[in-house]
Amino acid sequence: MAQRLQEFDSSIYQNVFKKQLLVKDPIDLSVGLPSGETPEYIKMAGIQAIQENKTLYAPANGIPELREALAEKFARDNNISVTKDEVTVMPGLATGLLSVYLAVLNPGDEVMIMDPGFSPYFYLPAIAGAEVKRISTLPNFQLDLDAIEKGITTKTKLILINTPNNPTGAIYPKKDLEKLAQIAGKHDILIISDEIYESFVFEGEHFSIGSIYPNTITMNGFSKSHTMTGWRIGYTCGPRDVIDAINQIQQYTVFSSSSIAQYAALEALSQPVSKHEDYAKKNRLITEKMTAAGFDLHGNMGAYYTLFEVPEGMDDMEFVQKALDKKVLLIPGRAFSTKENFVRISYGGTIEDVEKGLDIITKITP
Ligand code: PLP
Repeated sequence: MAQRLQEFDSSIYQNVFKKQLLVKDPIDLSVGLPSGETPEYIKMAGIQAIQENKTLYAPANGIPELREALAEKFARDNNISVTKDEVTVMPGLATGLLSVYLAVLNPGDEVMIMDPGFSPYFYLPAIAGAEVKRISTLPNFQLDLDAIEKGITTKTKLILINTPNNPTGAIYPKKDLEKLAQIAGKHDILIISDEIYESFVFEGEHFSIGSIYPNTITMNGFSKSHTMTGWRIGYTCGPRDVIDAINQIQQYTVFSSSSIAQYAALEALSQPVSKHEDYAKKNRLITEKMTAAGFDLHGNMGAYYTLFEVPEGMDDMEFVQKALDKKVLLIPGRAFSTKENFVRISYGGTIEDVEKGLDIITKITP
């Protein structure tokens, strides 16, 4: 097997899921699934695409109608002005991110990534021979703009941000994103902004750094906003040369994102996105119960995650095991960070499960 497997450690997730499979009727606060099902009108569009034989290869960058609708979406929701040729469709953001890395990174280049962060961010650059520089967002899970600026070297090619954030739930304020744009501009660095949780902002408005910094690759997808995780459909916009480079990679790696999923996604864009008010309720419940139990929550603002520090005297694996003994499934923070004293709650499930889970979590002691 390839040597890169040594640098590609997905075992934490795999081991946690293996253990969890053994639990009967668990309270699942682990996986990053949104609640409910794909809305009926989107499913019908998928079925119709099949019935109309729209089931063959699509262009590597996506069907033009979808890219056109996505360009309109970027203008409307994100204040980013792009043409359909500055948009590309991807088979989900995880694969999409690899295509971006392969399109822009040379061996030896550095990618600056906020820690804690979505696990694949840290492992995929190695495939392109690039290095990762982690910038801690502790203690409040916000951007440490001084550390970012100080960490920039001549090798820094990309800065990757994710707001609302998985796993912390933090949202970066506009003023920090403006400052980040200034820093990146001064050093001529590309920004990747993963905004897949943009519709899970419970107070105020989502702000896209791509609206003020043209050298931004804005990534988004239908998995979370439209409960379409299994359809595998994401999209990205950015400078034309970067999008062309991504398409060059996709032509031979992806060849075509699912045509059926693309027609379903096109229909998804025809209706306003849910405000996700049920998630706002779960978010407030977590703040209330965890704070009352003495936990300091910093990030719990958006997406549907919160990351909390475990009580002194234990680490994340012990905490997760104790929760598992009581049938509550959680993910240890080390899946997202070099730190080993945080645990992630995902509140994509029902409010009843979140409530039951919190009753158990708040009573766990070393
Ligand atoms: N980006 C973030 C921050 C995520 O949390 C996830 C999934 O959990 C993804 C991207 C992957 O999304 P997709 O389903 O489009 O691959």
